[in-house]
Amino acid sequence: MSAIPESSPPEFACPGNYVASQPSSLRCAKCGRPLDVKDARYTPTGYVCPYYVKARVATFYNAGFVHYLVVGALCFVLGLLIGVLMRLVVVPIPFFSLWITLILAPLLGGGVAELIRRVMRAMGDVRGQHTWLVSAVLLSIGGLLVMVPELSLVLLLARPPSFSLLIALGGVLLAAIALAARLREFSR
Ligand SMILES: [Zn+2]
Repeated sequence: MSAIPESSPPEFACPGNYVASQPSSLRCAKCGRPLDVKDARYTPTGYVCPYYVKARVATFYNAGFVHYLVVGALCFVLGLLIGVLMRLVVVPIPFFSLWITLILAPLLGGGVAELIRRVMRAMGDVRGQHTWLVSAVLLSIGGLLVMVPELSLVLLLARPPSFSLLIALGGVLLAAIALAARLREFSR
């Protein structure tokens, strides 16, 4: 742990009013305030106080409610389409529909991720900490909504679900997982 000498001027005024609970020789590399070891956050430029990290996260991720709304609505509609597609793909031959779904679903999820990335860029280079989560959840809801009639029959009549329904459900979830994974990749 390297401590900055007391004489060096702070290069950044960290927001908040961090106060170490006991005397400490460790100092925030940004604001120079004494830092408890337990509160220190390690960054490539040295140890910093917790407020610095919060401030950086807040300025890096600039997506607001409207951005999430646009992304969420888009993913919901695309989820509906993927749900319909999954029900169409899985028709006569279960073996083939399984393989088509296993190949198609991640591709669709990846395609949606690429689209979301472009939309975020078009809205003014917006970065959202929770974009991946909002996207995946709304895509799943849209996709599963298509299967609600069949699912309710399964639940109400205690029928075993058809193989094609299971494949379609798996396909929607697979697409959502691929979408979340790709968006998390982009955000790094
Ligand atoms: Zn600080």
